[in-house]
Amino acid sequence: MIPSDRSNTSSALLDKPRDHCGVFGVYGDPQAAQLTYYGLHALQHRGQEGSGIVTSEYHPDRKRHRFHVHKDFGLVNDVFRNEEIFTRTLRGSIAIGHNRYSTAGSSDNKTNIQPLIVNYRDGNIAISHNGNLTNYRQIRKCLQDEGTIFQTTSDTEIILHLIARSRESGQVSQILDALNQVQGAFSLAILTDDKLIAARDPHGWRPLAVGKLATGYVVASETCAFDIINAEYIGDVEPGEVVVFDREVLETGRIKSFHLKKTNSRPHFCIFEYIYFSRPDSRVFGESVDSVRRELGKSLAQEHPVTAAGPDERIVVINVPDSSNTATLGYVSENNKLGNDSKFEMGLIRSHYVGRTFIQPAQDARELKVRAKFNTVKSVLKGSKVVIVDDSIVRGTTAKQLVKLVRNAGAKEIHIRVTAPPIRHPCHYGMDFPREDELIANRCGGEIDNIRRELGVDSIGYLSLDKLLASVPHNNGANYCTACFSGEYPTPIDGGGSKDEHEM
Ligand code: SF4
Repeated sequence: MIPSDRSNTSSALLDKPRDHCGVFGVYGDPQAAQLTYYGLHALQHRGQEGSGIVTSEYHPDRKRHRFHVHKDFGLVNDVFRNEEIFTRTLRGSIAIGHNRYSTAGSSDNKTNIQPLIVNYRDGNIAISHNGNLTNYRQIRKCLQDEGTIFQTTSDTEIILHLIARSRESGQVSQILDALNQVQGAFSLAILTDDKLIAARDPHGWRPLAVGKLATGYVVASETCAFDIINAEYIGDVEPGEVVVFDREVLETGRIKSFHLKKTNSRPHFCIFEYIYFSRPDSRVFGESVDSVRRELGKSLAQEHPVTAAGPDERIVVINVPDSSNTATLGYVSENNKLGNDSKFEMGLIRSHYVGRTFIQPAQDARELKVRAKFNTVKSVLKGSKVVIVDDSIVRGTTAKQLVKLVRNAGAKEIHIRVTAPPIRHPCHYGMDFPREDELIANRCGGEIDNIRRELGVDSIGYLSLDKLLASVPHNNGANYCTACFSGEYPTPIDGGGSKDEHEM
């Protein structure tokens, strides 16, 4: 583990990339399921379509462990609405949980909701996965050719089959054996009868943090899940590391660490976790997301300042709540430092009550959809030169409607500033983007001025890739994946595609 001497909401905005999942695990607390519920609640932004918890309970009379499970479609609060789930079903002192975002075509497949569970010759095993495996088609085909029957359409299931088929002895060795065969992104919480195991792929695309409770240990995709349960962040599972928590660890305080086979590649942390996906109150890859986002905002102002035409002109800088809040603060402070008198204002107000159940307006009513989520504060926008800071622009549909709203509120000029380069390529490591031809940067032929015209703004400035890389932390040799901007994938891709694409 990377020790830490340092101790973070992105919103489900329209037209944003979506991550596939959040994972959480607890070892050694009699309230393991409740703690997992709170952890999953804090990680809700990482997946809103399904949620699940599995616990392991020891039965001394039968001298064996039993797994208990509860999972369903919906938000964490909906899935675990009934308190009896915790008192009657999810008993035990070890638990793992999962929040899932599914891709089109599989969102109605309940078997894909994680954690996935199997029982095999060496006991029970359950798994929660964040990321996408890039060689799963190949492995799945081999396994199917050999007679393996799949229960789900998820890439995660191949890990369970590889564990069950391993010739190694002992579950930890079997897990290492299985994980050495898969490629791509995985941050995992694995539950065996008597252990909690956390594992991260050698590239480390997705985060995975370790925390300490008074009673035991916790692992989570983001540290915001620790704060809600008063767990202390003690470090990250390193890229390529497999960490085991069991009774011995609880007694000695020495965490057991194993390593996957080395690859020639350096780690490739997903830079989008900093740009948009993680909560600003989290530490991700060991760093405060808030601090990194402020830095991105400052860098953006250095590259693309907005200047006033004269002493009487008013520059108003607004955020797109909530995901660009922090970056906007960085932008304003730096733009001021550069001598451009500008003021941070809350020009857009977001409704927190537009959920998945909102009746979707007809397709030609995109404006209504955006207005249901955002409204303008006309008094701060009227007659002003407005700078809208956003973290990323994907299709551009929401951005276009926001520009219309701001224009209708009386803005004199509108300038968009984006704390990321234009997105031009798909992600194969756990983030879901629309098709390449739907991305605004591609529809506009990669020409910034075409994007500006498409959005109907006076100017647009994207953070360059070089400046983005110069603005994120590089402690402990941190290195980043930028494939969705650059097209340079750190690994070969096994035909691409989404996480859950095998229709059954
Ligand atoms: S392609 Fe983009 S979203 Fe996917 S892991 Fe790389 S940086 Fe992150």
